[in-house]
Amino acid sequence: MSWENNVRRVVPYVAGEQPKISDVIKLNTNENPYPPAPSVQNILDNFNISKMKLYPDPNAEVLINAIAENYQVKPEQVFVGVGSDDVISMAFLTFFNSQRPVLFPDVTYSFYDVWADVYKIPYQQIKLTEDFRINPDDYKIPNGGIIFPNPNAPTGVLESVDLIEEILQVNPDSVVMIDEAYIDFGGESCLPLLKKYENLLVIQTYSKSRSMAGMRIGFAIGNEKLIRYLNDVKFSINSYTMNHLTLLCGAESLKDDNYFRSCTSKIIETREDTKQKLAELGFIFPDSKSNFIFASHPDYDASIIFEKLKARKIFVRYWNKPRINQYMRITIGTPEEMNCLLTALQEIMGELNR
Ligand SMILES: *Cc1c(COP(=O)(O)O)cnc(C)c1O
Repeated sequence: MSWENNVRRVVPYVAGEQPKISDVIKLNTNENPYPPAPSVQNILDNFNISKMKLYPDPNAEVLINAIAENYQVKPEQVFVGVGSDDVISMAFLTFFNSQRPVLFPDVTYSFYDVWADVYKIPYQQIKLTEDFRINPDDYKIPNGGIIFPNPNAPTGVLESVDLIEEILQVNPDSVVMIDEAYIDFGGESCLPLLKKYENLLVIQTYSKSRSMAGMRIGFAIGNEKLIRYLNDVKFSINSYTMNHLTLLCGAESLKDDNYFRSCTSKIIETREDTKQKLAELGFIFPDSKSNFIFASHPDYDASIIFEKLKARKIFVRYWNKPRINQYMRITIGTPEEMNCLLTALQEIMGELNR
């Protein structure tokens, strides 16, 4: 016997690399290449450090009210956390509490199986079709809950609100979570379905479309009852997850909708341009409605291209996992960054041909 027999052992989630070297082109963690709304700077400039003496508002009211107003829901329908990772983790702990398996796709956000393992939640990974689509019929089996991102990560594939509704219709006894981390890049949110389905939880984040990955803000919108259950669990673990400054910055950033739309439009435009240029180089990819492209080349090994890009200080994401080990996930950066990437790809392919 040893204390080590009683350790809760887990294989942790591996986040994308945050390189310490300078002048890198960072296209590996789906961050936004543009800064947050400019007025957020005023919040920082005017922040008085004496506020740090006090605990922040455990109910995160400024932020929750701002989100509720922005999405036209009641504040009682909003839950906030330290990034959507915190929100989803709390939601797993709260709603996935049955003996039946929770369902999510085999190719998806690689944190889901980690949370299921750490909380000892049984789960079943449902195979996506050959072209990385969700078949709603696969989700018509007994289950303890359902979660998937829409658009999916790391594929970028967007499913319709109708498909989500089809899954909700046959699953009134499970909580269905839709992780909309990338919905602002041209997808249609399923938020309107909240009026019809009290078991739907929609999760979004400030990390991608709102350029605030470093502030750690995520939120869930759902039926008031769901949000109450989430808060009961959250207040049983840590009341003060969101710090004072973060709450203020998060609320401020929602005020500038024009700026938000101009950033997401620029990224969408760059994405469409990059798709065309990647296709010209012979890359294939599922059509992406997110801020990344999941690309593969029939003639070149993805892990080799990945390493060669890295040697040129261009970071993309690569997973040596079944089904996806010939793909790279490339975040959409600025047009200049994408041009550097495309030039590098061309050079690398030339080198490999010699
Ligand atoms: C990035 C991402 C998240 C988490 O983002 P946070 O930075 O924790 O808000 C959640 N789900 C998916 C699918 C993501 O890609």
